[in-house]
Amino acid sequence: MTTVAAYAAPSAKAPLERTTIERREPGEFDVLIDIKFAGICHSDIHQAREGWGEAIFPMVPGHEIAGVVAAVGSGVTRFAVGDRVGVGCMVDSCRECENCKAGQEQYCIKGNVPTYNGIGTDGRPTYGGYAQTVVVDENYVVRIPDALPLDVAAPLLCAGITLYSPLKRFGAGPGKKVAVVGLGGLGHMGVKIAHALGAEVTVLSQSLRKKDDGLKLGADHYYATSDPKTFEELAGTFDLIVSTVSAPLDFGAYLSLLKTEGTLANVGAPEEPISLNLFSLIGGGKTLAGSMIGGIAETQEMLDFCAEHGLGAQIEVIRADQINEAYERVLASDVRYRFVIDTATI
Ligand SMILES: [Zn+2]
Ligand SMILES: [Zn+2]
Repeated sequence: MTTVAAYAAPSAKAPLERTTIERREPGEFDVLIDIKFAGICHSDIHQAREGWGEAIFPMVPGHEIAGVVAAVGSGVTRFAVGDRVGVGCMVDSCRECENCKAGQEQYCIKGNVPTYNGIGTDGRPTYGGYAQTVVVDENYVVRIPDALPLDVAAPLLCAGITLYSPLKRFGAGPGKKVAVVGLGGLGHMGVKIAHALGAEVTVLSQSLRKKDDGLKLGADHYYATSDPKTFEELAGTFDLIVSTVSAPLDFGAYLSLLKTEGTLANVGAPEEPISLNLFSLIGGGKTLAGSMIGGIAETQEMLDFCAEHGLGAQIEVIRADQINEAYERVLASDVRYRFVIDTATI
C-alpha cells in the first residue's frame, strides 16, 4: 500500500477536507496514474451528501480523472509510463455478461465497480479522483490524445461521454434537428458535440441568460422554456431531444416538440418519479429513452472525436481548498461550465 494525499468527505453532513488514503500497489494488469486534474460532477455532490441514498465514508469523490501513467504492472500491454490517460465513472465490471462482452460495461448486469463510493474487486472501498494518484486495471483506462490539454479533457470522462453516447446512438448528424435541454456541465458538451457531428442544434434553457454562450458553443438557436410561446413555435420540430436536467420536467410538453418517430433521450436523474400521459408517445410513434455514460471503447471513441474537432470542456480550474465553495456554486448554477481541481494543490 502507498499513502497518498486526497480530499474526502468524512460523512454526509461534513465538508470535504484534506486527508490521506491508501492505494494498492499496481498489480499485474494495473496502471498507476499520477492524477493531474479532476472534474467536479454534480453527481459528486449528490453522493457526498447522500442525496442518492446511503453512501460509503470517508468518500473521495471524482470520476472525471486526467493524468499521466507513473507505473504499470508486468502484464500491462496498452499503456506505458508517461502516457496521458483518463478514468471515468467505473474502474471494473464483471467482464463476462452479455453487456460487458458487447462493450457496454456501464450496463454490466452484475453491476460495475464505480470509481468511488463502491467496493472494488479486492473488497476495499474505491476512492476517486480528488487525490494524487489512482490505480486502475488497464481495461478501464482510456488514452487522452495529445491534442487535448488534460485540464479541459477531464470533464469529458463523465460529461462528454454522457452526451456523446445518446447523440451517436440516436443519430445526431447532418440534416438532423437536435435540441439540448439545459446548458450546464452536461448540456454545454452536448451542444459542442452535436454541432461537431453536423446537426442543427437548439438549446432549450429556462431563460435566455446564457444565450450568448450557447451560440458561441455551437448552437444555431436558443429558446427560453419559461416562455410558453417556445412550445407553440417549436411543436413537431426535433428529430432528437437530449435532456440533461435533473429537476422534474413536463415530459409531455417536451415530447410535443418531437417530429413523428422522434426520440427524447434523458440523461438527467430526477429524484422523483414522473407522470406522463402516454398519448404523448403513442400519437407520433415517439420514443422516450434513457442513457447512462458509455462503455470504455465508446469513451475512447469520444475522446478521439473531441481531439479531432478541438472540443474540450469550458472550465474553471480551482485549488483543492476551494472544493467546498465550488460545491455551493455548482448547486447555485454559478459555474461556466465545469470546475476542475488542480490536484497538485491537494
Ligand atoms: Zn459524473
Ligand atoms: Zn458485466
